[in-house]
Parts: sequence; C-alpha cells; structure tokens
Amino acid sequence: MNFCDLARQYQLYKSEFDSAMSQVITNAAFIGGPDVKSLESELSEFCGAPFVITCANGTEAITAALTALDIGVGDEIIVPDFTFFATAEAVSTVRATPIFAEINPQTFNIDPDSVRGLITPRTKGIISVSLFGQIAEMDELRAICEQHGIWLLEDAAQSFGATQNGIRSCNLSPIATTSFFPAKPLGCFGDGGAIFCQDESLAQKIRLIVNHGSSQRYVHQKIGLNSRLDTLQAAVLRVKLRHFEQELDHRNRAAKLYSSLLGDTVQTPQILDGNSSAWAQYTIRTKHRSELQAYLAQRNIPSAIHYPQPLHAQPVYAVGTQAQNPHASQAAAEVLSLPMHGLIYDEEVQEVCAAIQAFFALH
Ligand SMILES: *Cc1c(COP(=O)(O)O)cnc(C)c1O
Repeated sequence: MNFCDLARQYQLYKSEFDSAMSQVITNAAFIGGPDVKSLESELSEFCGAPFVITCANGTEAITAALTALDIGVGDEIIVPDFTFFATAEAVSTVRATPIFAEINPQTFNIDPDSVRGLITPRTKGIISVSLFGQIAEMDELRAICEQHGIWLLEDAAQSFGATQNGIRSCNLSPIATTSFFPAKPLGCFGDGGAIFCQDESLAQKIRLIVNHGSSQRYVHQKIGLNSRLDTLQAAVLRVKLRHFEQELDHRNRAAKLYSSLLGDTVQTPQILDGNSSAWAQYTIRTKHRSELQAYLAQRNIPSAIHYPQPLHAQPVYAVGTQAQNPHASQAAAEVLSLPMHGLIYDEEVQEVCAAIQAFFALH
C-alpha cells in the first residue's frame, strides 16, 4: 500500500499524459508554451478567482504574493504556528517577521481569537493556511482584516478544490496561493504553484515578479524571481484537472469510510459546517502515536506526521520571544496522517482501519 499512490494515477490516465507531454516536447515550447495560458484560464474557471498566475512552486507563490504586496523589513505577518515551514519561510525570505498564532484544536487551523491578540501597528497581513484540505474561518479573519486595514492571504497549498459556503478555496480572499507538488490534491510531475487574486493591477504586478520583474524581454521594472511553471507541468496539470472533481469525490468517500470505521477508536478529523475538505491528508490524533505508527509500519501500512514541531519550536525561529501556543504543540505531538489519495481503494482503507482497531484492542 502507498501513502499517496501517484503511480496508480499515472497508469490510469497514461494515454492522456503521454500524448499531452509528447505534444509539448514535439512543439519544444518548454517555457511559456500555450498549455500555461490554457491552464491558467482553466484554474480560474474551476475555482472562480478572476486572475491566476502560475509559478514554479507553492513557496515562491507566497514569496511573489508578499513581494507584490510590498512586504519587507519591519513588517509583521501573522501565520498559524502549526503548518508546513514554507508558510513562514516565505515571510522571512522577504525580510518580514512571521508572528505565530495559536490554532483551533478541532480543525488545526489558525484561531481568529489568537490573531486578534497579536495585531500591532506593524501587522501588515494574515496568512491563513487551509491545513490538510480544510479552509480556515475566513469570515472572521476577513472581518479582522477589514477592521485593521490589513490583507488576508490564503495559503491553499493543501486545499485546492475545497469549498466554504459553496465558494472554492483560492477565491475566498483578495489573494491566495497554491502548490502543485506531486502529493498535493492537484499535483504535477515535479514542482509547480500558482497565485490567485481578485484585482487586475495586483495580478499584473505578480506576473512581473515571477518573471524577473519584466513584462518586456530584457526590460526589468522590478527585482523579481525566476519562478515560472514549465509547459510540461502545465500540460500534466491540464490532464489531471479533467479528472480532479471525480478524485475529490473519491477522497471524500474514503474520508467518510475512515471516519465511520475509526470514530469510536481515535479522534477523527472535524469538518466545520459549510466546509468541504480537499482531503490533502486524513489526519487522526492519538496519545499513542509512536507505538501506533510502528505497529502500522510492521504491517506495511505507511503513515506520516504532519508536522512534528510547531513553527515556534523550529531551530531557526526558536528565539524564545514567541508565545508557546499549547494547542499547536499538542497537535504536533499527537497527529498521524493515514494513506489518502484520489484513487485509494475501500479495501485499503478497511485494512488500515482494521490494523488501528487491532492496535487499540491491545492498548
Ligand atoms: C506544500 C506546502 C507549501 C509549499 O509548496 P511547495 O510547492 O512545496 O513549495 C506551502 N504551504 C503549505 C501549507 C504546504 O503544504
């Protein structure tokens, strides 16, 4: 059994992938080929955000967004304490300061009450992460931003395809970013990312930034990045996007099956009313994590820890000036992600659940 079975996905859509990729290679337009523009329109149509700019990865998507928002030295950006490192890394890359907010222990997402307590005159914005595929409490976060005149960015690296009150992830904030890393809900065959926004002039600025600050060849208006999506990756993503809704439905069914089989045994994911998750991860909580993970590994069942440390405890940020955020620390000590992808078999979910039940029968 694989944690995320990308080989199964390749085999299923092989003829479509092979023809899409061979067309790119035959045309030899490897950078900025026609598939890039087509993908951007299709992503926009899918999630509803009017402007989409693809780029090289989800980390640089955040960096490019922060650069376009003129974030720099002396600025504070509030991020959840419990997320993948890249959310804070991008803030540090533009020389601003990440401020680590506590999480809601039910959803693992940023807690709006904690955010309110962290706002200072230096706060320029909030990055909410839609962790494991579930969107954070955007209405409350938007209200805080409006009250303080700061911006809201959704780091939707794990949630492309999720919805909140019928609106898709990446279309719930003035600016949003995602990642097409292979294991994300919509992944390519390498690194990729995108930025989504509601405002045309901001979109134009971002488009400059991801291409060396240049709109015309060899004329540079800004210091930017070399952060474009390869045409090959765009072609791969266009194939996967055609099957994406079906895979999202499949992830949702697998998650329901997990929860129905495990609900009495461990703490299963809580999805808030009005939300649908993209199920980037199916993550349980247990105080017996290391023993359970070893027990599963002995039975060839893969599992993963997303993430073993809150950001405030990372060596590069452990400067002792940040709040301790007990919910974030406790989540880091208890979470365990189980096999989940768009083509997982019911029998695989049942096998994982049977092993977990057998483990808890012994404990
Ligand atoms: C994966 C991820 C990123 C970074 O995306 P890359 O494409 O790997 O650079 C950023 N934030 C979160 C929450 C992620 O899960």
